[in-house]
Amino acid sequence: MTRHITHWIDGKPWTGSSDRAGEVFDPATGRATGTVDFADGAVVDQAVRAAAQAAATWRTTSVARRTQVLFGFRQRLAERLSEVAALVSAEHGKVLADAEGEVRRGLEIVELACGIGQLTKGELSEEVSRGIDTFSIRQPLGVVAGITPFNFPAMVPLWMFPLAVACGNAFVLKPSEKDPSASLLLAELFADAGLPDGVFSVVHGDAVAVDALLAHPTVQAVSFVGSTAVARHVYETATASGKRVQALGGAKNHLVVLPDADLDRTADACVSAGFGSAGERCMAISVVVAVDPVGDALVERIAERTGELRVGPATDPQADMGPLITRAHRDRVAGYLDAAAADGATVAVDGRRHEIHGEDSGFWLGPSLLDRVTPAMSAYRDEIFGPVLSVVRVESFEAALALVNASPYGNGAAIFTDDGRAARRFQREVEAGMVGVNVPIPVPVAPFSFGGWKASLFGDLGMYGPDGVRFYTRAKVITAHWPEPTSGRGVELGFPTNS
Ligand code: NAD
Repeated sequence: MTRHITHWIDGKPWTGSSDRAGEVFDPATGRATGTVDFADGAVVDQAVRAAAQAAATWRTTSVARRTQVLFGFRQRLAERLSEVAALVSAEHGKVLADAEGEVRRGLEIVELACGIGQLTKGELSEEVSRGIDTFSIRQPLGVVAGITPFNFPAMVPLWMFPLAVACGNAFVLKPSEKDPSASLLLAELFADAGLPDGVFSVVHGDAVAVDALLAHPTVQAVSFVGSTAVARHVYETATASGKRVQALGGAKNHLVVLPDADLDRTADACVSAGFGSAGERCMAISVVVAVDPVGDALVERIAERTGELRVGPATDPQADMGPLITRAHRDRVAGYLDAAAADGATVAVDGRRHEIHGEDSGFWLGPSLLDRVTPAMSAYRDEIFGPVLSVVRVESFEAALALVNASPYGNGAAIFTDDGRAARRFQREVEAGMVGVNVPIPVPVAPFSFGGWKASLFGDLGMYGPDGVRFYTRAKVITAHWPEPTSGRGVELGFPTNS
């Protein structure tokens, strides 16, 4: 028996029948566990119309009331965090502790959104000219859409919709069709907290649903997180029709190791950040840049730790790492190991030979370590998005920095060192949006914003934090004059000056 997964529109599950659907798998067994309806243009239109109707009232709902609903949602999400995490694990495959971690980081954005009164507070200047005051306010956009990737089925939607809704918008989410269930539980919890029908809807599907959202004239803004190719398509298509867009793309994150770094701590960080969530994180470390003469000692330590990782299903409490999302993706990632070996890299740890504590039919690939990788190899150039860590050896700090900066991606970058001056130079000169100093995965906390540079982000503003509030609102500046009644005429055609 497989589960039937459908859209959430206007505060309830959709009751129509769908021509198109996709299969949802348990990646640990390779078996289909559900079918998910795919929205066409008509279903997307239904969700957007419901959102537009709801937005008209929601924008006039007091900040106090909106805050209460957000607090209610926060409470319910905290209480049922492990249930959301279990849904994430069941369809994505990541181990439970990791899934709980993603929901916890999402919860932090809900907590940020609970302070919406503070976040959208305007400014006022009195008597800027005689009898004239000027003040600024931020107003919601109306209907906004979010399109999210498979790798964080709870956290990435939570980066978007709580803040958008807190700002007074209605939100239509199109989550990944590969792991769609967590978003539906989030919608139920939000509704249970008192969110009016239509303010938050979920439509499932593939490119058809996405393109219908991008083309819909009522959708004012689009938040996207996914691969670079689709991010570029979303950005170009939606901005061409005048929409506001933030489109976060792929990544290839480097971790630079200087010779003075604590090698045991650094090796721990490389393994944790390289293989957590099977490397399917946009902030995963993909490339370790070993500055001479640190290479041999570092590779030895990373290899030792990699070999000890337990690979198994989320139901195995001892497992460190789960399977990959689909069989096709598993095969694609394994293909990079063949290619790297043929290109002259050393396969220091071969994940294809790693012991797996799960059913053979799952989408398994153990963690792999490639040494002596060069920038010409496909394992270096492409975003692998799997449990493959590549070590590139360079002779100096300058060479390491130049290598990182030559990457077309600029999501995260990290440096491990005991040298404060080198770290400071790195943080100033590296071309990446999020930088870690002795921190391998520098995901900003909620009061800051998340966003990369170059091919990792199209648009001006990142997710959540101050960028999120700016993205989901537009500014208005009011200049007001309440003069005393006068009997004389006062026509003045000159450009108004202040006095
Ligand atoms: P993806 O680009 O394949 O899919 C993302 C979303 O776009 C999904 O909802 C999908 O249904 C939709 N989509 C897919 N193809 C489309 C098309 N041709 N036209 C319109 N819509 C389409 O990404 P994914 O495989 O789900 O996620 C992994 C990618 O996301 C990786 O590249 C990863 O780096 C990236 N990612 C980036 C960040 C970040 O913050 N920069 C965060 C998480 C994931």
